[in-house]
This record gives sequence, structure tokens and C-alpha cells, in this order.
Amino acid sequence: MNILSVASEIYPIVKTGGLADVTGALPGALAAHGMPMRTLVPGYRTVMAALGGGRRVVRSYPEFYGGPAAILAAEAAGLDLFVLDAPHLFDRPGAPYGDGTDFDDNWRRFAALGKAGAEIAEHGGDGFLPDLVHAHDWQAAMTIAYMRYANARSVPTVMTVHNLAFQGQFPASIFPLLGLPDAAMSVDGVEYYGGVGFLKAGLQGASAITTVSPTYAQEIRTPQFGMGLDGLLNARAADLHGIVNGIDVDVWDPQTDTLLPAPYGPRTLQKRQRNRQTVEERFGLDQDGAPILTVISRLTWQKGMDLFAEVLDRIVAEGARVAVLGSGDHALEGALLSAAARHRGRVGVVIGYSEPLSHLLQAGCDAILVPSRFEPCGLTQLYGLRYGCVPIVARTGGLADTIVDANEAALSAGVATGFQFAPLTADAFLQAIRRAMRCHREPSVWATIQRQGMKADVSWNRSATRYARLYDTLASDV
Ligand code: ADP
Repeated sequence: MNILSVASEIYPIVKTGGLADVTGALPGALAAHGMPMRTLVPGYRTVMAALGGGRRVVRSYPEFYGGPAAILAAEAAGLDLFVLDAPHLFDRPGAPYGDGTDFDDNWRRFAALGKAGAEIAEHGGDGFLPDLVHAHDWQAAMTIAYMRYANARSVPTVMTVHNLAFQGQFPASIFPLLGLPDAAMSVDGVEYYGGVGFLKAGLQGASAITTVSPTYAQEIRTPQFGMGLDGLLNARAADLHGIVNGIDVDVWDPQTDTLLPAPYGPRTLQKRQRNRQTVEERFGLDQDGAPILTVISRLTWQKGMDLFAEVLDRIVAEGARVAVLGSGDHALEGALLSAAARHRGRVGVVIGYSEPLSHLLQAGCDAILVPSRFEPCGLTQLYGLRYGCVPIVARTGGLADTIVDANEAALSAGVATGFQFAPLTADAFLQAIRRAMRCHREPSVWATIQRQGMKADVSWNRSATRYARLYDTLASDV
């Protein structure tokens, strides 16, 4: 069974968030199920630069959404790729979606990606004819609309929502430029609140919808989390599944991680001390025995970073040290930098994006704070589990599904892996931090929580089995 995955990011070639981790890991995990997966990605500069010499032209188009384009087949970083090579759309400096503000022609760029996906679904290429198409997020969602309205072959589709906050909504004026039949501009098609909704089109047309945790799958059916799509998602509830993400346990393995000054395992937790010293040096923290809490995050409202900035003084007053790695909202960056200036030696902040530092923090800090307002799955708490960096998380979405709260019952049964709090208030957040710090003062209790987390199966095996089962079911329904 051949699976075509369509995505705007794939680790390690192009990544702005967790989506890339998922699309990068899924092909490897599905290979074990005998399901070859190839991924179609945009030919951004970084992608074109990553392709080796073995690229093959699968189809070419003199005119494709405003310029010449080709679909290439290639291998890069151990991944089997199709690449939409369209320089007028993707050969630009900077981030995938625009620097600071979104590119004006994002609708065209990702309509083109969708059309390319539909072309491969219809004609195949490079000896690969898809039996199922899996589209990720709004950037890939139009694949499903084009397949539905323009293709002769009937191929089942899966639409995965990694974050409902990003929907790809555009004015109705783009509709005539999409090359879809008039019938597509309907409630049943791509029309969304009078405009065109890319994600909406995918959700409407997909054979099945998945999102990245069971709790988020329930939450998005409510007005509070549904972001305007709760009605549609309720109507499609029978086809909506929550499958928690795994992580790449080879990239994230504290025993073999070459990015760490001192690799370690569950029985050699004392070696974390050297990583902690490096954290202290890199983040300008006092060298004392106080716990170090870390944040590795986009600095946004979704991630609850405003709440974090608000309680930072009180966290320091509790006696903890704090190491922050993140970038995003400029006001939040400023607030965190001024907290670091106010609390020299207690709070260290690095503004930016750094994979090596994120590994170091997970390996050297005691706990990771994830106070998200909503969190479809979340990956940093999974890395935290694996690295013995105990997660302190808001009880929402995938955070609720992946962390076992250290309440009395869980502690005495030895199954606790972290700390959850709700509602999302300063007091509840601080109370969870206090609970964690109390446990931290008892080394054997803390080590039990760390080891329990390190034992949790956060690999792709379980998730891949669930995706494979879903693909099988959909393929046998055709
Ligand atoms: P989202 O995709 O919503 O940002 P996730 O928790 O699902 O949140 O995934 C975030 C990913 O990005 C994780 O792999 C995390 O380690 C990484 N990340 C976020 N911010 C940074 C940063 N400043 N430096 C390095 N990695 C980061």
C-alpha cells in the first residue's frame, strides 16, 4: 500500500514546528508496517539545496500557478520525497510562510502544492502510484479538494489537523484562480464564511480526519476550541480520530545524543549534573543546587507565554532558576529579557531557535514548563519525559493525554510522570510548580518520576500502528 503524504514541512530539511517532526518520522515508522510513504513538499531553497544529484523529473508544467514548475522525485536525509520545484513560488529567502508577516501569495503557493499532490494521486510518478493520500494542515489541504473535484481516480484521503488555529482562510476573490469547478464554491466544498477555507475544504472532503491527541479531538468539537470549525467537526465526528504523536527516539535519546556534554540513561541520572553545568554557563545562571525549570517554545499566546512571563517573578521567589529558549512575539521576548535582567543569575533567556540548545536544556534542567492554552499534542513534554526533564503542563489536549499527574495515588503507585494543572491561571500554575519543587526536594521521589517518564513509550511504534490501521480500514472501504 503506497501512501502519499503532503506537507509544507519535514524534519530535518524544513521545520518551523511540531508538524515537521511528525512528517519526518512517520515514513520511517510506517515502513515497519510495509507501507511505503513518500512525502510531497514545496521546493523551498532549503529543500532544493538538500536534494542530492539523483533528482528525477516526474512531470513538468510550462505554466503552473504563475510560472513554470516541475514535480521532482528525490531522496534527501533518508526520506523519499516528491518536490514541487516552482521557483516563482518557493525560491525565496527566509521562513517558509513569510518573514514576520505571511507572504501575500500564500494562497497560490499552497494551492499549487495541493494541485501537485492531486496530480501525483491521479497519475503517480517515479514508479509510485498512491493508494491513499495523507494531507497535513491547511497548506496541504487543497490536495483533497483538487482530488475531489478534478481527479478521475478515487483514492481515500486522510486530513490531519496539527493545529486548528491555522486554517488558511482567503477572500472569495481567489476562487476563480484556483481552477476548480464552480460547484466547489459551496458549503459542501471550499467555501468558508463567504471566503475560501483551505483547511475547511480538506476537512469537508477527507475520507477521515485525524488530529494529534484524543483530548484535542474532543476539544475541537466545542466552540471554545473549535475556532469556527466545531460545527463541521461535530458533523464529521464519526470520522474524527485522535492519534498521539510519537517522537524520533533515535534523535532524542539521552544515551546516544551527541549534542550533550554528558549522555546518560535512567540508571546514570547523576551524569545529568554535567549537562546542568553547561546549562548554567550558557544561560548565565548561578551555580547552586536550586532546580532549573526550562521553557523551550514559540513565544506566543497559545503557549501561555504571557502567563509565564507574568508569574516569572513569583517562580524566582519560590527559589527556582529558569532557563528559557524561544522566539516569537516581540513583546514577550522583551518581557522575558527584562525578567532576565531583573533576576541575574536566576533567569537566563536565549531568544532564537536552536536544536542543540533544546537538547541541552532537556538534558540539564529538572523540569520543563508547558502552560499552553491549547495544545493539539505537544512534543516538548515528550522530549522532557525521555530526558528525565519532568513536564509541568496545562491539562489540555495532548498534554492531558501524555503526562500522568503526580497526585498522591499516582505517586504511591509509582506511575507519575509529571505535573498537570488547570485552569490556566497564575495560581494553578504556581501551585503545580510548588508541588514539583516539593517532590524535587526528595531525591528518590524525584528520580522515580524521572525514570517513570523515561520508561514511557513515546516512540512512533504505537502511533504508526494506529495510522496503519486507519489506512487499512479506509483502503478496504473503497
Ligand atoms: P508547536 O509545533 O506548536 O510549536 P510542539 O511542542 O508540537 O509545538 O513542537 C515544537 C517543536 O519545536 C519541538 O520540537 C521543540 O523542541 C521545537 N522548538 C520550539 N521552539 C524552539 C526553539 N526556540 N529552539 C529549538 N527548538 C524549538
